[in-house]
Amino acid sequence: MERILISACLVGDNVKYDGGNNKSPLIDKLLEKYELIPFCPEVEGGLSTPRSPSERKDGRVINMDGDDVTAAFERGAELAFNICLFLKIKKVILKERSPSCGKKEIYDGSFSHKAISGMGVTAEYLASKGIEVYSEDEIESLLG
Ligand code: SF4
Repeated sequence: MERILISACLVGDNVKYDGGNNKSPLIDKLLEKYELIPFCPEVEGGLSTPRSPSERKDGRVINMDGDDVTAAFERGAELAFNICLFLKIKKVILKERSPSCGKKEIYDGSFSHKAISGMGVTAEYLASKGIEVYSEDEIESLLG
């Protein structure tokens, strides 16, 4: 069974900044075809749950308290890639609009819920390393 790394919040793990999750209704269908490896780059990068929400801005990642958390986000991205290498994972499914996991959109850095085109730190890093990045909105394409 092919392995896919997936944003941990999409399988129901309570790792979101507010302590909740984003469980996808398509997880059971995915599990019929794939072995899912849940991973949260923000938690694995060293941030706590719950935590202050963060957004990308001018090449950095800043949380709502004004702290620069770029190093934790980059650590999480590197760990995600290490797991892909170790487990021979070629595809990942990531949560849209997250500053770590967003594939097509992220928030604009103003904490006003304004989405712009862009990628999260982990999504961008994995794509740069040749990993196929799927957004949660593209799960159907993996189920055909
Ligand atoms: S960093 Fe990714 S996996 Fe973790 S809570 Fe945010 S969207 Fe989910």
